[in-house]
Amino acid sequence: MKMPSLIDLLLDLAYPRLCVMCGRKLQPAERHVCAFCLSRLPCTDFHLRPDNPMAQHFFGQTGMERAAALLFYHRGDASGKIIRCLKYGGMPDIGVYFGRFMGNELALSGFFDGIDLLIPVPLSPGRRRWRGYNQAERIAFGLSQVTGIPLSTEHLFRLRDNPSQTALDSRARLESMRSLFSLKHPETLAGKHVLLIDDVFTTGATLQACVGALSGCPGIHFSLLTLACTAS
Ligand SMILES: [Zn+2]
Repeated sequence: MKMPSLIDLLLDLAYPRLCVMCGRKLQPAERHVCAFCLSRLPCTDFHLRPDNPMAQHFFGQTGMERAAALLFYHRGDASGKIIRCLKYGGMPDIGVYFGRFMGNELALSGFFDGIDLLIPVPLSPGRRRWRGYNQAERIAFGLSQVTGIPLSTEHLFRLRDNPSQTALDSRARLESMRSLFSLKHPETLAGKHVLLIDDVFTTGATLQACVGALSGCPGIHFSLLTLACTAS
């Protein structure tokens, strides 16, 4: 853990920083979440279980290697608070923090072995403007800092937001999801092992659409990593 500077200590006195989970005042060396709350995170340990429910969702998918999520997601609990701060609280730094956290937690398991490139699930241009940042990109940025694996935002692009669940029947929705993402420079991804990063895994439809867009690259391999996951 980085030692706080004198400026950090003075800022802490003037503007106390609070744990986003319990509201307790953070110690100078703590960031975003206090040590007590960190020790009680609802971790999935999916990276230690190759047949975890998230990976099972993609069994049979050509080129699929591994899938994991750091936390179980429940709207009202710890992971829900973290995701709310990241997506709606204007706190992109918490994404970087948990990207670094995941990098450290998963590294020893070999989860990142052989991965050539991190690709965060992109937002549509409108959503990106509205939020001011892409939360998945912030997570991937932290992960890249710790693992040294390069991050690309130059390959995968989102053309629009997800289609509404209610406005379309299931077949129309599936069709619409297929054309949600576009790919640039596919030739540079041939034979690469790409780790797709997102904030929350729910139905898997968004990640499936990303995999669909990338799967045209010859010899490409995929792994998936999200900060939280509804599947248990
Ligand atoms: Zn706390």
